[in-house]
Amino acid sequence: MGLRTGDQYVEGLRNRKHVKVYVMGKRVEDVTTNLFMKPSLLSFKATFDAAFQEDTRDLARAYSPFINEEINRFVHIHQGPQDLVAKVKLLRALSHKTGSCFQRCVGWDGLNTMYIITGKLAEKGKPVYRERFLKYLEEVQRRDLALAGAMTDARGVRSLRPHEQPNPDAYVRVVEERDDGIIVRGAKANITGVALVDEVIVMPTRAMTEKDAPYAVAFAVPLDSPGVTVVVGRQINDVRKAEGDIDGLPYMSHHEGLIIFEDVFVPWDRVFLYQEWQWAGPLVEVFSAFHRQGYAGCKSGLGDVIIGAAYNLAKQIGVADKPNIVDKLTEMVFLNESMYSAGLAASWEGKKLLKDGGWWVNPMYANVTKHLVSRFPYEISRLSHDIAGGIIGTAPSEFDLKNSEIRQLVEKYLQGVPEFTAEDRLRMLRLLENVSVSVGFLIESVHGAGSPAAQKIVFSRLYDFQGAEAVAKRLARMRGPEPPGTPEPHKKSDVEK
Ligand SMILES: Cc1cc2nc3c(=O)[nH]c(=O)nc-3n(C[C@H](O)[C@H](O)[C@H](O)COP(=O)(O)OP(=O)(O)OC[C@H]3O[C@@H](n4cnc5c(N)ncnc54)[C@H](O)[C@@H]3O)c2cc1C
Repeated sequence: MGLRTGDQYVEGLRNRKHVKVYVMGKRVEDVTTNLFMKPSLLSFKATFDAAFQEDTRDLARAYSPFINEEINRFVHIHQGPQDLVAKVKLLRALSHKTGSCFQRCVGWDGLNTMYIITGKLAEKGKPVYRERFLKYLEEVQRRDLALAGAMTDARGVRSLRPHEQPNPDAYVRVVEERDDGIIVRGAKANITGVALVDEVIVMPTRAMTEKDAPYAVAFAVPLDSPGVTVVVGRQINDVRKAEGDIDGLPYMSHHEGLIIFEDVFVPWDRVFLYQEWQWAGPLVEVFSAFHRQGYAGCKSGLGDVIIGAAYNLAKQIGVADKPNIVDKLTEMVFLNESMYSAGLAASWEGKKLLKDGGWWVNPMYANVTKHLVSRFPYEISRLSHDIAGGIIGTAPSEFDLKNSEIRQLVEKYLQGVPEFTAEDRLRMLRLLENVSVSVGFLIESVHGAGSPAAQKIVFSRLYDFQGAEAVAKRLARMRGPEPPGTPEPHKKSDVEK
């Protein structure tokens, strides 16, 4: 079938059977008509429509050597640094269309991760996972499936390993091995877009020891598999999106959810890693670097929305050319472009992990990207609130503007420079408020793809302190080993060794 339109994607969701999704305490039979889910559906849908829209068509399509067809880039396996760059650019462009997270990246990063890890296992003499995965990949590309990537386990006590947990299901594990497949139990938390996908790719979330072998499992299942339950989470200002046409702007959003596996059957042809506990660590390393690189695109794209809104609001009150405002706007540009530049560096410095491809990002720069993302959006938001004025937190509702008794008064006192109407001001304020105080721009920036501490661990692993010391010693004319001889004092990551 190949490329699907947004409408075909939505139609596909309607055809799912047995889906067990809970929203605000109630079972929802058809998520595509549920008002609470609509903003998220529209945002996910944008990833399909982008492949047919003139401004994003080229970025959103790619040629698949696996099925010899043009496909949606969100199911593409990167074939070189250009593809990694195109990923970041596509994500920035899509943020401009949605003003939100569009939820399809995690599954995409999962696909590229499993391609590399199963490829590595094949190179080490275990081709079975690779064979299964390639078959699965072809199906995903042919059907242009919507995928969620589920890595983060419920994890109970953070300081304990999976096999040490008081709740043995705190990490997803295999509870039974059968001739035709495995039975899995456990839950994955905070999973983006999970109620609105065709399938879920499940991966281990941390490095493991031999005793954790039943937890070292990666697989894919349709969301409507018996035993799968999804509980959709809430977000700030979520019900606003179900009312009116101003207060909930930009009317696209995302959701996260808890996905629970109650003894779910997974046939062998969908098991891509099992009991290979030594590979859980490298898998997480590969996935997290992919995902951390991607944030350069989506978060800078949201940064553009915020900068644009702040600039317009400054114009609306006649201060856009004042030095203090110009200084804040340019600071926002610097913060935003820093995140983006780091992601581009991670992409252009990408490397091949397999003999026949397996393109990965530069892990140091990908982690730098995410670490900038864990901080800069908060500062960008703060500056935008400074520029917008206190009204960003106190504006009347659109219903006041629509009430004939007070409309004229609200219009009179909400307006700034006459060029813009009171409604213009309210529209831009609400857009700014809902994007800059959103889970997508703030909370996800801190925790998505791992908390800030996780990136610092990677920095300390990858930076060659002894190499840098040797450089310094040579300049100080002290005795010591030769410097590493490369411009960057970086060590190889585990998966490259
Ligand atoms: C909006 C959003 C979307 C997301 N989407 C996805 C998704 O699609 N798929 C997916 O798999 N995951 C997703 N995640 C999950 C994300 O990867 C996790 O939130 C992240 O890894 C942090 O885990 P946690 O939230 O459980 O935080 P916690 O682990 O509870 O961390 C809280 C604090 O404890 C610290 N800490 C944790 N463990 C230790 C330890 N052993 N020693 C010392 N300190 C520790 C952390 O550094 C942090 O400061 C998403 C998260 C968010 C917020």
